Amino acid sequence: TYILGIETSCDETAVAIVKNGKEMVANAVASQIDSHKRFGGVVPEVASRHHVEQITCVLEEAFLQANMTWEQIDAIAVTEGPGLVGALLIGVNTAKALAFAKQKPLIGVHHIAGHIYANRFDREFAFPLLALIVSGGHTELVLMNDHGSYTLIGETRDDAAGEAYDKVARTLDLPYPGGPQIDQLATEGAETINFPRAWLEDDSFDFSFSGLKSSVINTIHNASQRGESLKKEDIAASFQASVVDVLTTKTWKAAQAYNVQQVIVAGGVAANQGLRQALEEKFQNSGMPLLIPPLKLCTDNAAMIAAAGFVSYEQGNRAGWDLNANPSLILN
Ligand code: ATP
Ligand code: MG
Ligand code: FE
Repeated sequence: TYILGIETSCDETAVAIVKNGKEMVANAVASQIDSHKRFGGVVPEVASRHHVEQITCVLEEAFLQANMTWEQIDAIAVTEGPGLVGALLIGVNTAKALAFAKQKPLIGVHHIAGHIYANRFDREFAFPLLALIVSGGHTELVLMNDHGSYTLIGETRDDAAGEAYDKVARTLDLPYPGGPQIDQLATEGAETINFPRAWLEDDSFDFSFSGLKSSVINTIHNASQRGESLKKEDIAASFQASVVDVLTTKTWKAAQAYNVQQVIVAGGVAANQGLRQALEEKFQNSGMPLLIPPLKLCTDNAAMIAAAGFVSYEQGNRAGWDLNANPSLILN
């Protein structure tokens, strides 16, 4: 079974073709990072316009990579939410037009289900499974008892992890997107500042990063008031140590509490070297396999959407012509 996936929820225009939900056949991505850099973040209107311009080329590129024709495609899966509404609409309308013209079934996919299924290219899932989702808009712990079944056991009460990275990076005058920049600087610095860790209530699997963000901003501000200047590398290393400590510890505790068969990590921040290393050390010799996608499958792509779409397709789900972009779609 071949699924064509389409993803346009934020600033990546992506089309992919995936076989049986786990074999990569084509994965085409056009990133808009350069266009948004000068604004220091994603500008929704600019993103929508780029998606319109890029989507046809990216679609062609996917078929070229796959060396396949439309006859071989079984269904079209598209991100219906969450994300930027104008950006989502480009993907949804493209998918509807193609499904109608080529007479293919249409499947709506939750963007975060996609991030989770980016892990299935590596290894088959084993349930119950715990997923740590860390992206630009989400920080969640999700328990899966089967394919396509999601129970939220914890989430951020304020900023997402990626959002905290991007905001701290902006304070440090680093270019957008800030996550990879801080990740790099952190390797050149040391944890000289003891930033707070938001553990919250004893048994809580929720997160909070806005206090940490404020603490970083205040620390920089106070130092400059005293006429001192802190090393960016040390700020990056200290900030990252706090984020990684909380993410790793809570994931470990949740994995024990729910006695899971597998732990997977998903979303853009899963590309973070410090986080990958800390999680690998924590779960090494634990008997609990840890899956983290290769770097290019951590950030937005359409292969993950096709992979999650395959599961939905197998379960018999089909979207109608009334499929619409839903910027606040819930994962369930
Ligand atoms: P969502 O998936 O929640 O809708 P999104 O699609 O914008 O949001 P992703 O594309 O999954 O988010 O991830 C982008 C985020 O990941 C950005 O905040 C970026 O700074 C962060 N990020 C990417 N690489 C790294 C890294 N190496 N270290 C830390 N953060 C990173
Ligand atoms: Mg992006
Ligand atoms: Fe994403």
